[in-house]
Amino acid sequence: MTLSLSQKEYLDLMGIDVWVARGSSASNEMQEMEVNEFPASQTLNELKSTVSTCTKCRLHAGRIQTVFGAGSHEADWMLIGEAPGAEEDKQGMPFVGRAGKLLTAMLASIGLDREKVFIANILKCRPPNNRDPSADEVLACDDYLKTQIKIIQPKMILALGRIAAQNLLKSDVPIGKMRGKIYQYGEAEIPVVVTYHPAYLLRSPREKRKSWQDLQLAVQLYKGTDN
Ligand code: SF4
Repeated sequence: MTLSLSQKEYLDLMGIDVWVARGSSASNEMQEMEVNEFPASQTLNELKSTVSTCTKCRLHAGRIQTVFGAGSHEADWMLIGEAPGAEEDKQGMPFVGRAGKLLTAMLASIGLDREKVFIANILKCRPPNNRDPSADEVLACDDYLKTQIKIIQPKMILALGRIAAQNLLKSDVPIGKMRGKIYQYGEAEIPVVVTYHPAYLLRSPREKRKSWQDLQLAVQLYKGTDN
């Protein structure tokens, strides 16, 4: 397999050198991945409207706005992070700023356009001072994420970081032990792969190689799904 120039550039952006075995086929096939281009689902828009006025937990009091999620409503890939930070709260978009740029580069490294996936968080409102979400906040917000997944029906879920992985998979296993394994979500048994949060990768760039391995695992799994 040879990587396209743009993929190499994105891998450079991630700070990763990649050596790919001859005959490996993940990247080229990912470039040809088909993504539906249907109009946005009204149902997801309705849910977004409901979330925008939600007061089910204390976090509503401190938010500028809710951060529902963004991307294609018919995405094959869904990425789930923890919660909005200060910049996300300002812009109303998930994964903006440096971590967002790195996430975009990570996606591009496997041939995925950020606009063609759907990116959401466990929580739709920003916890103060970027503290971890509390259990009752996660519980209060849980139905929204469940419904998003139900509507979008992704074929692959990438859990970004410990909070996302543990809450999504109802596990207390440390993230280092969760990654590298394949999980399933819900009745639809959607495959889930766990990797590090981009903000953590910015602080610990040596872990980017593991994140690359996680992405490769997800690509291989996706290729094995009925898509
Ligand atoms: S975090 Fe979720 S449950 Fe809490 S107020 Fe925001 S949208 Fe509602």
